[in-house]
Amino acid sequence: MNEKPVILIVDDVPTNVQILANCLKDNYHIKVATDGLRCLELVAATPTPDLILLDIEMPGMDGYEVCQQLKKNPVTQNIPVIFVTANDQEEDEEKGLQLGAVDYITKPIRPSIVVARVNTHITLKLQHDKLTAMATHDQLTGLYNRHYLFISANKKIAKAKRHHEPVSFIMMDIDHFKHINDNYGHPVGDIVLQKVATIIEQQSRSEDVAARFGGEEFVILLDHCSLMDAQFKAEKYRQLIEAERPEQHVVTCSFGVVQMNPEGEAIDSLIKRADLALYQAKENGRNQVVIGE
Ligand code: GH3
Ligand code: MG
Ligand code: MG
Ligand code: MG
Repeated sequence: MNEKPVILIVDDVPTNVQILANCLKDNYHIKVATDGLRCLELVAATPTPDLILLDIEMPGMDGYEVCQQLKKNPVTQNIPVIFVTANDQEEDEEKGLQLGAVDYITKPIRPSIVVARVNTHITLKLQHDKLTAMATHDQLTGLYNRHYLFISANKKIAKAKRHHEPVSFIMMDIDHFKHINDNYGHPVGDIVLQKVATIIEQQSRSEDVAARFGGEEFVILLDHCSLMDAQFKAEKYRQLIEAERPEQHVVTCSFGVVQMNPEGEAIDSLIKRADLALYQAKENGRNQVVIGE
């Protein structure tokens, strides 16, 4: 695993790349592109860069255009860009900063200044990533949190409606969880929550939004997934959780499964219908999957 932050150096002149790489290579993992197109390819490849040092004058696509492309793509728009360029006019700098670059360094570079500026922007970027992860994930289980479910669900639902694709929704709740807390203590309850979350995580595709919805309730939003597939999936979770026996205790879950109305449907409505199906699963004796209306 690569622990160092990743810097992508983009410059058409190999000696320029070399000079920058020499000042940064001890503390950073360096990737190199010698033209704009290659830069756009490399930002999509792992390890994704934490920062880009971008030349302006390059044959083909120039640095300004590369920056524009990066800033309009949601996947790359948060990667900080620092222009490193021989263009030393104020208008050039103004243009670069207006395109969304965080900084502008003119050549010939002074290594200690490049290192200092890069360090500052890397620190800010890593703090930003950490805060974003904390704001969107549940601390105990590492799954997404309820806040993230709502912000992502409406986008996914709108997209599925546009493309006439099925979306399904699973709501699940641990059975008699209070007994576990009462009889074995809260820390054991926490371990059970983590084990259940791990099973959900392992069985989910990366596009699924698996979230901790409340105390011992979890939801999974599945795009490109029919009701039958979602039912099959919920049944798989149910069996795996029952077989897991965290801390030697039998733990089971009940499930409500619904499919989005093809005309479109708000996330609140999916939640409401899945919750009713879940309630029915509890009423029917728990440890089972019920398909909602
Ligand atoms: P049912 O089968 O009807 O769902 O019964 P239940 O006991 O699972 O449901 P109930 O709502 O009565 O109890 C849920 C319990 O979950 C109560 C609450 O203290 C506990 N809980 C909520 N969040 C956490 C947590 O983060 N850690 C632990 N250990 N327990 C939690
Ligand atoms: Mg150049
Ligand atoms: Mg419960
Ligand atoms: Mg509950």
